[in-house]
Amino acid sequence: MPSSSPTQIDPEAYWMPFTANRRYKRDPVLFDSADGMYYHRPDGSKVLDGIAGLWCVNAGHRRPEVVQAIAHCADRLDYASSFQMSHPLAFQFAEALCEQAPGELSHVFFSNSGSEAVDTALKIALGYHKARGQGQRVRLIGRERSYHGVGFGGLSVSGIGGHRKNFGNLLPYVDYLPHTYDRSQMAYTRGQPAWGAHLADELERIVALHDASTIAAVIVEPVAGSTGVLVPPQGYLRRLREICDRHGILLIFDEVICAFGRLGAPFASERFGVLPDIVTCAKGLTNGAIPMGATLVRDAVYEAYMDAPEGAIEFSHGYTYSGHPVACAAGLATLAIHQSEGLAQRARELEPYWEDAAHALCGLPGVVDIRNIGLLAAVELEPRAGKPGQRGFGVHQACLAKGSLIRSSGDAMLLSPPLIIEKAQIDELFSTLSEVLRQDA
Ligand code: PMP
Repeated sequence: MPSSSPTQIDPEAYWMPFTANRRYKRDPVLFDSADGMYYHRPDGSKVLDGIAGLWCVNAGHRRPEVVQAIAHCADRLDYASSFQMSHPLAFQFAEALCEQAPGELSHVFFSNSGSEAVDTALKIALGYHKARGQGQRVRLIGRERSYHGVGFGGLSVSGIGGHRKNFGNLLPYVDYLPHTYDRSQMAYTRGQPAWGAHLADELERIVALHDASTIAAVIVEPVAGSTGVLVPPQGYLRRLREICDRHGILLIFDEVICAFGRLGAPFASERFGVLPDIVTCAKGLTNGAIPMGATLVRDAVYEAYMDAPEGAIEFSHGYTYSGHPVACAAGLATLAIHQSEGLAQRARELEPYWEDAAHALCGLPGVVDIRNIGLLAAVELEPRAGKPGQRGFGVHQACLAKGSLIRSSGDAMLLSPPLIIEKAQIDELFSTLSEVLRQDA
């Protein structure tokens, strides 16, 4: 394939996202096809995908149903705006998605990415209060060690200092809950830690400081994904819900990673038995085949806009590609696969096996914690002295050289495979990681 031969690539033209460009381009890693659980490299070798692309290819790569739906739609309706017009696929996909979603999450606003889904959610929350005559509720509350994308809204509520520091002023009036990870209390917990529900009470402290009447919404990832698979303590999310209810604050779950079976349920809110007011999703939505984001809202949020006096509040928001027909076609095909193959249920059934395989790495050189839930896991490594992240990246590279794709976030090794993974492939991922860690000692 000439286009993917490293020798024919102009290394400077493409400015790669979240990549140390010059370093990467000295020894580029390229994939030129994919199939099921595997990527294929230009040299013909294959790589077991332990991270579902980037937490998104939940039904496995290059599913014929999705490919055909995309091709068929593109050949029939390449584009139709959703501004004051639309096309049937957008309505059909919205209905199918809301049917899958828990509780009263029965309205959806489409966008093109997780970042856009988050910015949309924050704006919906602010406008909701305004529609109800409480326009003074302008404060947003995020959490440390959270990732909500790269738009200025999502970045403002995110809790990763390194992502924020170069970009000057972000949104004003944002506070942060503490993150929920304390290794001294929860190292090697399987599933949800028993310790830590009280950390939700920090929300009461923020409310007391600013007064509830100024606070619009709290946004959290049910499980913080890219910052290291930080599983919420038992009871924590319920407590956040209760405090939000007490003070009329909207609760937003950023399920960009957690939705579509990743945690062994269609949505994280079902896994944890807590219903938020707004849910963002993106990654599994079209099985990674076409960019798309979605923001689902409860009836009360939607009705606040719809019931506002004519012209009083219009949601002045949307993207040229909101509800893009090809994305909707891919999404419908993806949902059909989830339903016919019961992928969320499959993830739930595999979870004990996955958990055992992950925790079998306990005691290996450099391992200081192992965390897991659903088909998510993190193996936390002791950083090399004075060089955070270096060990993690080295382990990622060594695993790749042995044919397994495992992501590093700092010194945590992150795993989130397609939900179609077989037990033998679970063994392969963890035995590769284990072999590399023994050699890395
Ligand atoms: N929210 C969460 C929880 C995410 O994990 C991500 C992506 N990793 C985003 C938002 C942003 O999604 P995108 O990269 O599609 O903009």
